[in-house]
Amino acid sequence: MELLKRLTEAPGIPGREDKIREIVKKEMDGICDDVRSDAMGNLIGLKKGSGNGKIMVAGHMDEIGFMVKHIDDKGFLRLQPVGGFDARTLMGRRVIVHGKEDLIGNLSSATKPIHILTEEEKKKELQIKDFFIDLGLPSEKVKEIVEIGDPVTLRQEFVQIGDSYSNKAMDDRAGVLVMLEAVKKTKKHPADVYMVATVQEEVGLRGAVTSAFGLEPDLGIALDVTLAADFPGGEEPEYVTKLGQGVAIKIMDSSAISNHQLVKSLKEIARKKDIPYQMEILPRGGTDAGAIQASKAGVPVATLSIPCRYVHTVNEMIHHDDLEASINLLASFLSETNPGDFVPTNR
Ligand SMILES: [Zn+2]
Repeated sequence: MELLKRLTEAPGIPGREDKIREIVKKEMDGICDDVRSDAMGNLIGLKKGSGNGKIMVAGHMDEIGFMVKHIDDKGFLRLQPVGGFDARTLMGRRVIVHGKEDLIGNLSSATKPIHILTEEEKKKELQIKDFFIDLGLPSEKVKEIVEIGDPVTLRQEFVQIGDSYSNKAMDDRAGVLVMLEAVKKTKKHPADVYMVATVQEEVGLRGAVTSAFGLEPDLGIALDVTLAADFPGGEEPEYVTKLGQGVAIKIMDSSAISNHQLVKSLKEIARKKDIPYQMEILPRGGTDAGAIQASKAGVPVATLSIPCRYVHTVNEMIHHDDLEASINLLASFLSETNPGDFVPTNR
């Protein structure tokens, strides 16, 4: 899991994916016939098949984080979110401010210490705009190193917890890992496979919009994490998926309804190959599949999801078996799929 550690520990807020892109590029260079990036910063790796159509596989490189919005006279930073952290999970966290050099900071909310809070003040709901970063430096020094717009990421380390792995940015570096490992495993495949490590997914699937438009794939598979809300506090019908129960084949979310034939085919392959899987309906949220599907005249798409607990916190947690199942299902799918089979009125 050394690669997953490197992928999740790298910074990369939307629009500033350079460091993570470097890591992914090195991996793609070892697998692909051609690797390039486009104007948006998407990284596109082609692994040639036997010339039978084009499959686009997408996993997003960006992670939720912040930009520096304001530096005050005392040197405290205020934040603009890029992507949706749950403010309740941010108290007392550490961050890295990526200025001229990387600075570690304490994230706190603009509120009095708990010892002197009134009962009324304790009830107030936390909002991102209440948070600030303390860099432990005077304002002049901060302003020498940090500028408005500099990226801020959460500081967290990769750990194995039981049979699971936990870190920030499992969303969606786990998806990027599945893409790389599955294509590595696929020796022969009918279609040309375009691996796309997309940018700016967390702010509206923006990298997938342009990369799908440019590639004109015959079929698209997005890889992303999904909710595994199977922990105390939820009811079973709202779990979406269960951790450790296999790769999730998405039926729908609010960005796309997966192509029905494609869903059927993924299920059949999983059964045939004894790959543990579960079906997923996500009431709210989307993946790059939403952008690929609506590209040009339309593309049949589906999403393979990796169940993840505590999504959009720094403790995102995925299960070893789900990761393995996701890699195996994607690899088997690529090795036997002709994209033409899913387009009744083929172009
Ligand atoms: Zn995601």
